[in-house]
Amino acid sequence: MDRKQFLSNSLKAAAGVLVAGPVLSSAACNSPAPEGETTPNDTTSPGTPLVLEQIALPYAYSALEPSIDASTMEIHYTKHHAGYVKKANAAIAEEGVKAATEAELIATIGAYSAGIRNNVGGVWNHNMFWQVMTPSATGGPTGKVLDALNGGFGSIDAFKEAFTEAAMKRFGSGWAWLVLRNGELEIGSTPNQDNPLMDVSDFKGTPLLGLDVWEHAYYLHYQNKRNEYVANWWNVVNWDEVARRMA
Ligand code: MN
Repeated sequence: MDRKQFLSNSLKAAAGVLVAGPVLSSAACNSPAPEGETTPNDTTSPGTPLVLEQIALPYAYSALEPSIDASTMEIHYTKHHAGYVKKANAAIAEEGVKAATEAELIATIGAYSAGIRNNVGGVWNHNMFWQVMTPSATGGPTGKVLDALNGGFGSIDAFKEAFTEAAMKRFGSGWAWLVLRNGELEIGSTPNQDNPLMDVSDFKGTPLLGLDVWEHAYYLHYQNKRNEYVANWWNVVNWDEVARRMA
C-alpha cells in the first residue's frame, strides 16, 4: 500500500467511525480530538458522505531546502494540512453535506458553516500548494506560460513584483494567487483559507499558482520576514504545473 492509498484509506476509516458514532458509546472512541465527541445526526440519509483526501507529498520534507526548511514542511503537511483534512471530513459528515464532489462543495461553500468553509478551503489550497512547488525547478516559466505572463504583466519581473505585492499586502493569514479569468491572467489574494473557486470569494478565477502566506508556512525559518520567504519561494515554483493548470 503506498502512502497516498494509506492516507486515503485512513481518511475513509476515520469517516466511517464518525458515521457510526451514534452506534458506539462515547467511551468507545479513543480519539482525544474534539471531532470524535460530536454526534452526527444524519445517519439515516442515503449514501456516504463526501470524503476529501490529502495528496501524498510529491517530494521529501527536505526537498525544497533552502527555500523552505524540512521542519516547516513536515509540520505544515502532517499537522496543519492533515488537520484541515480531518476537520473538513468530520464537518462534512456532521453537517450532512450533499455536494457530490470537492469541486461542487467549494463552488457552493457559502451555503455551509464557517467550519466547512475554512477546513475544506484548507484541504484544497494545500493540495494545490504542494503541487505548484518542486525541488527540480528550472528557474522560470517557459513557452505558453512565459508568453502569457509577458502579455499580461509586461515582463516576468513585473509579474513577480505584482504577485509579491499581493502576498505582502494580504493582512494576517491568507493566500496570494495567479488566476485565469475570462481568458485573462489576474493577481489577487484571499483571507484565511478562502480561494478563488469559492462562490463567496471577492477574488475569483481558475487558480494557476497559489502561495500560502500564513505564518505557519514560514515563521520557523523566516520569522517575521514574509518578504524573504516570498523571494526565495520563486526558486521552487513548479512552472510545469502552472502550465498544466493553464491548459
Ligand atoms: Mn498552510
